[in-house]
Amino acid sequence: MELTDTQKAIIETVRDFVEREVVPVAEELEHKDEFPERIYEGMKEMGLFGLTVPEEYGGVGESLMTYALTVVELARGWMSLSGILNTHFMGCYLINKFGTDEQKQKHLPRMATGEVRAALAMSEPEAGSDVQAIRTKAIRDGDDYVVNGQKMWLTNGLRSGIVMTLVKTDPEADPPHRGMSMLIVEKEPGATKPAPGLDCGKNIEKMGYKGIETIEMTFSDFRTPASSLLGSEEGRGFRQVLDAIEVGRVNVSARAVGVATRAFEEAIRYSQERKAFGKPISQHQAIQIHLAEMGTTLEAAKLMLYSAAAKKSSGERSDLEAGMSKLFASEACHEIVLKSLRVHGGYGYSKEFTIERLYRDAPFLLIGEGTSEIQKTVIARRLLEKYKI
Ligand SMILES: Cc1cc2nc3c(=O)[nH]c(=O)nc-3n(C[C@H](O)[C@H](O)[C@H](O)COP(=O)(O)OP(=O)(O)OC[C@H]3O[C@@H](n4cnc5c(N)ncnc54)[C@H](O)[C@@H]3O)c2cc1C
Repeated sequence: MELTDTQKAIIETVRDFVEREVVPVAEELEHKDEFPERIYEGMKEMGLFGLTVPEEYGGVGESLMTYALTVVELARGWMSLSGILNTHFMGCYLINKFGTDEQKQKHLPRMATGEVRAALAMSEPEAGSDVQAIRTKAIRDGDDYVVNGQKMWLTNGLRSGIVMTLVKTDPEADPPHRGMSMLIVEKEPGATKPAPGLDCGKNIEKMGYKGIETIEMTFSDFRTPASSLLGSEEGRGFRQVLDAIEVGRVNVSARAVGVATRAFEEAIRYSQERKAFGKPISQHQAIQIHLAEMGTTLEAAKLMLYSAAAKKSSGERSDLEAGMSKLFASEACHEIVLKSLRVHGGYGYSKEFTIERLYRDAPFLLIGEGTSEIQKTVIARRLLEKYKI
């Protein structure tokens, strides 16, 4: 793939940073479920929070392709780092694409530096895949919206200063998506009760994807100014969020490629070090078959990622490619970490080996930004549209 000099410089800088600052400490921080303050500061210094924010708002103005390649490098070090970045990236994307001039001027410069970070509140206790089934309401009252409802699974929910919140401004609309809107909710980062009527619940303990908080959030007659509506018209929230999810899917593919790359690297090294029956296990055909399958699947996942990212970066419709890439890469990553674990034998089950962490991180990729089952329905719908007889 042809990369620009700027892209090459960014990727190289991130790769060096990951080798130096992340690889040596990731296991320890992950096992302690500790937020990586120092690494986060380093990510800010490298300008990663403004990577795709246009230069006029203080960002780097790079494409989705550059973002995806950056995410591959970060996730190769520790998947949670790409999580710190991603809801923020989606928030920047939403405000830049759909926000009014005032909203862009107000939020993007502070978001570009990482001074203010964004979370995305779409899912609810009773609604994940079925986005139109959300119940959180925002009803206009004078110059404010009054918000009531509960959100679930907010990655970066506590430390964020902006929460892109999907709500129903017209709960009776039929079909429901016509009554959905997105609010830019501002709050004090780190506060569990940042404003009257707004409550950041406890951190949800997870199997993997640790070091980054995932919380619930409750709105009880919470008031936010009417100017928090993303864009200037109600009823656009569903389309806006679907658009953001499309870029989010490219991000998940990139994470999957990063995690799978690391699992492959760990397996190919370990297989040459470990001896059984008088020779390195890499000389046993069964292990070679694992290595061959891992390497080949990884290569295919990378190519699908590059193709989906290139298409979206060029502004073309890419929901089909993004869905296929997300589906393939996340399933491939899951297979590759399992194969890598097999190659490690009993040591793969020990917390002292990296593969143990990768094995717990990978399943999230089968779920986030749309489950594999949902990807298949999206892909099939688009294929039937494309090849309609
Ligand atoms: C660690 C973590 C972080 C997250 N971060 C965020 C975040 O920051 N912001 C946010 O808004 N959300 C977040 N989520 C939520 C995530 O997006 C949802 O979990 C996901 O969309 C699936 O929704 P669900 O969990 O409600 O599953 P459900 O929708 O209840 O699905 C359960 C099962 O049914 C299947 N299913 C459902 N509908 C269909 C159908 N029509 N056809 C076939 N199968 C179907 C699903 O594939 C799945 O297997 C996060 C989740 C996790 C685990």
